[in-house]
Parts: sequence; structure tokens; C-alpha cells
Amino acid sequence: MIEEVLPNLYRIEIPLPNNPLRVLNSYFIRGKERNLLIDTGFNLDVCWLAMAQALTELGVSMDNTDLFITHYHSDHIGLIGYLSTPTNTVWMSESDAQMVNANYKANIFHTRNVNHLYHSGLLADGTPNLPEEEAVVKYASTGLVKFTMLHEGDRIDVGGYHFQCLETPGHTQGHMCLYEPDQKILISGDHVLAKITPNIGLWVLDRDALKEYLLSLEKIAALDVHLVLPAHRVLIYDLRGRVEEIKQHHVRRIEDILGIVGSQKMSAAQVAKRMRWDLSYRRWDDFPINQKIHAAAEAMAHLHYLVLKGQVRMSLEEGIYYFRKEQY
Ligand SMILES: [Zn+2]
Repeated sequence: MIEEVLPNLYRIEIPLPNNPLRVLNSYFIRGKERNLLIDTGFNLDVCWLAMAQALTELGVSMDNTDLFITHYHSDHIGLIGYLSTPTNTVWMSESDAQMVNANYKANIFHTRNVNHLYHSGLLADGTPNLPEEEAVVKYASTGLVKFTMLHEGDRIDVGGYHFQCLETPGHTQGHMCLYEPDQKILISGDHVLAKITPNIGLWVLDRDALKEYLLSLEKIAALDVHLVLPAHRVLIYDLRGRVEEIKQHHVRRIEDILGIVGSQKMSAAQVAKRMRWDLSYRRWDDFPINQKIHAAAEAMAHLHYLVLKGQVRMSLEEGIYYFRKEQY
């Protein structure tokens, strides 16, 4: 399905089968000489068919269409192997672009899942050892991509729009949004979504992903924005209101976790199992492996945030991270 949202700017719906995100919103901007396509869909036949059909309907050649990828998740970059050509530019933040190519060379996302299944306590808790079932790995793009690396403040001009690149770390370390100050549009990727809250997960305990995310929310809330074009679900007209709701969601999640963690040690998986999830599965045991991996990573991000704030104590025992309430 294609919808013209603004002059020369189209939303293309790419289905994401068997995934709670349902669809990816890819955006296409028609320019005089060059066009821009933002985010792609999974490396999956059904995604490629939807994208190819949309490009045909729009009468688009990829030879004069450049790509901007908001972040490395495979629902955003999966089809890059089909869409990049010798004559187009693929823009992405340096940090996430490096991860995509490192994954192509050395399967870093698979290794990350192997480690995460272990140190989150998912395996000890009975989750099958299937790291390849996680979506970033399962639907990853193929082929080494020649990225043009973007940084804070870089510009992309297309179709009468003048976009500024905004680094918005949190959902991924290199997540990037595009802001158009004249039209007051924000292309938000997975940084801000309506109805659902972006997954803030931590896979390696080398950063405070939740703190980064909350700071990136403040950063975009300060902008003058009339319309947000997110990568999933419906368009957002009240950015500040939505940012406030998402911040409240994390406050509640932290309260939820502080009510779960007690004086007995618990792994991230054991905490995730008891947390409230806005998913259609009735029990933790019904969660597909992909969802369990992401849920444990989300628990880990919140627990690590609380560890760094001094409210939760962390220990590493036989390769599993355990958490307990700090006693005063
Ligand atoms: Zn994402």
C-alpha cells in the first residue's frame, strides 16, 4: 500500500509477517534528479515483493534513488542487498553502519545472541538455544554494503526537503532520525512510535542504553515538530505528548522491576518472565524465542540502568548476571 503523506513524500507499507510490529513504514521522497528511500523491510520474499511492487507503481529506478537507513535492525535494512546499486548512495550513521558490515564479515549479531542467551539466564531458565531465531539474525541483509557514514548535523536535501541528521542513541547505539525544520517533520525510525513503545534492549553491558534513550527523547522533544513519520504504526501529530507517554512507560517499567527484584538473586530472564508485556501471548512460555530474547534484553537495559543508579546490585556467577535489591 502506498499513501502520499506530503507533497512528493510517500509512505510504503511493507508487511512484517509473524511479528508484533505488523508492518514497516518505508518512506519514499521523489526529487528532481535523485529520490530518497528510507528503510526497507526484512530480507524476506514477502517484503521484497511489496517493495518491488511499490517501486514499480511509483515508477522508480534504484539507480537514481539513494537510501537512508535509520538503524541496523533487519526490518529496516534487510533488503539493502536488493536495493543498493553501483550508482546510489546508502546513508547510515557510522556506528550502526560499522555493525552491519562487521556482521557480514564475522556474524557478530549471532555471537551476541549466543552470549545473551547465556548471560541473561534465558538458557538456564529453559529457553531453547536457538540464537538464529532472533529477527536481526534471521532476516539480516546479505552482502557488504558501501555506506556513506552520517554524523550529527549532516544534511540530506531531496524533493524540496532539507533534512538534518540527528543522532538519537538508545533503541540502537547508532540510531538516527531526520529532521526537516522548515516543514517541521521528523522521520523518527524506531525512536518514537505511536501505540507501541520502542524496545530498549542491552546485549552487552558496556553502556547505559536506557539513559541514552531518555536523553535522546529529551533531544527530540525540544524540536518544533508538526508531524512525526515513524517506522511502525500510525503517524504522530503530538510529539511532546507521545514522548511524555513513553517516559512514563519507562517510569512504570522501573517501578515494576523494583517490585520484582528482591533480596534473592535473579537473572534478567527471571525478571523478564515476571514483567508486564503488552503482547498478545498469554504466558511467558508462549513467547516466541525472538520475543524472549528481546524481552530479556529489555529487562537487562532497565536493570543495568538501576545498577548504575545504585538501586540494584549486580553479580556475575558462572557466566550469568544476577540482580538483587541494594540493601540500605
Ligand atoms: Zn528497530
